[in-house]
Amino acid sequence: GQCITACPVGALYEKENIKDVWKAIYDKEKYVVVQTAPAIRAALGEEFGIPVGTSVTGKMVAALRRLGFDKVFDTDFTADLTIMEEGTELISRLTSGENLPLMTSCCPGWIKFAEHFYPDMLDNLSTCKSPHEMEGALIKSYFAEKMAMDPKKIVTVSIMPCTAKKFESARGELSNDGLQDVDLVLTTRELARMIKEAGIDFENLPVEEFDNPFGESTGAAVIFGVTGGVAEAALRTVFEILSGKELETVNYTAVRGLEGVKEAVIELPNGMTINSIVAHGLGNARKALDVVRNGEKQYHFIEVMACPGGCVTGGGQPIVDSEYRMDHDIRLQRASAIYAEDESKVLRKSHKNPYITKIYEEFLEAPNSEVSHKHLHTHYVKREKFWK
Ligand code: SF4
Repeated sequence: GQCITACPVGALYEKENIKDVWKAIYDKEKYVVVQTAPAIRAALGEEFGIPVGTSVTGKMVAALRRLGFDKVFDTDFTADLTIMEEGTELISRLTSGENLPLMTSCCPGWIKFAEHFYPDMLDNLSTCKSPHEMEGALIKSYFAEKMAMDPKKIVTVSIMPCTAKKFESARGELSNDGLQDVDLVLTTRELARMIKEAGIDFENLPVEEFDNPFGESTGAAVIFGVTGGVAEAALRTVFEILSGKELETVNYTAVRGLEGVKEAVIELPNGMTINSIVAHGLGNARKALDVVRNGEKQYHFIEVMACPGGCVTGGGQPIVDSEYRMDHDIRLQRASAIYAEDESKVLRKSHKNPYITKIYEEFLEAPNSEVSHKHLHTHYVKREKFWK
């Protein structure tokens, strides 16, 4: 059943979609494509008795394949693409001086909050769709074209850390040519239930790789799952583009950790400075935004995530028992799984992803081009009623 509450960020918009996904998988007419957010791999294992803080990327891919999905893609690919699009947006706003600070747009809880409480600042939001919406749009255009397939036959499923993503996927503006970018969203807990229903022995699954063309990603993409990650990923790319120099130390530690509001000042070799602020939890977002609204301080870039800690502790993630939580901070444990995955990657900057270069050459032309605006960008609306 569907339960719509008066939650202003849509995080409590709870609708179970397991049956819908099974139905699509069993429908021979449909081609069902799944993608998984960065935060899922850092927590799914907990549902199967694997210790908190263990990344289970390869087993998760193997499980999705055994559930019957036709392709298993990674939302991390479009996290890299988001950096290309949002980084370019930041550079053009820094040049024009308009609509600064640029505010991130990948958290639908935060977007809805801004639409209700900061409608005067909607032009500051990045116009980028969130990464899984970008991927849904590309699956039904670029990928469908490559496969010579009717996009109407494709069902796009996203595994996401929160129920706010269910609300987001139903937004009318997140569609193209009458087709919704993302058709169905399952939370991490719902995916775990499907794996259990199918009788899959998760712990003993082999480690498998994502499918291409949306399977390759850099370390910059995986850190989207934790507070400060989008800012860090953007700074890695924007630094190199603006300075024309190779960034040697890629870790921007100032935006890491659990402090409610974090600030980082990035000095570029050309004397330019980028002031960033990172807030997680909506109370902290209010504090950061009020400073901007009152003109107390000037910032260029703001990252907001509605959940304290970021997506690793989103509302759709596994529930860890309270006794364990008394002795351990699961936000830090899951974040450490994410940072370890970033460290393990050969490529750690979004603009170095070869599949990103390829998709611009073959389809999108250039960041912020007309084609990329058609598929990857959106707009926002002032909202008054909490349930809309
Ligand atoms: Fe969802 Fe929370 Fe992540 Fe926002 S921060 S996208 S509400 S899990």
